[in-house]
Amino acid sequence: MAMGRIQFQAGLSLPEFIQLYGAEENCEAALEQARWPDGFRCPRCECKEYGLIHGRRHKRYPCRSCRHQTTLTAGTILEATKLPLTTGFLALYLVGQALAARLPCSGGRTSPHSL
Ligand SMILES: [Zn+2]
Repeated sequence: MAMGRIQFQAGLSLPEFIQLYGAEENCEAALEQARWPDGFRCPRCECKEYGLIHGRRHKRYPCRSCRHQTTLTAGTILEATKLPLTTGFLALYLVGQALAARLPCSGGRTSPHSL
């Protein structure tokens, strides 16, 4: 699956995280960017035209040509959750922090905030 991943900046502090992703719209924007960096693409027919349905939980993106409906979280670990995106993002952030703390050298990435 050609979906980008949500990655939080290494060394991002919790207050910074909340400022960036504390609102549902911010999480939606980040997911949209990760999923469709070049704009919407229907996962079924590759069509770029879509509508918008504001569902009870998450926005839906119905394709204009094949009518397939997709969501920002379809195919991600957040798909099954009934929690707000902000809660899912916080969980991802905390897991990332825990992994980073246990494996400081993993992936050879250096933190832009390392002192
Ligand atoms: Zn389609």
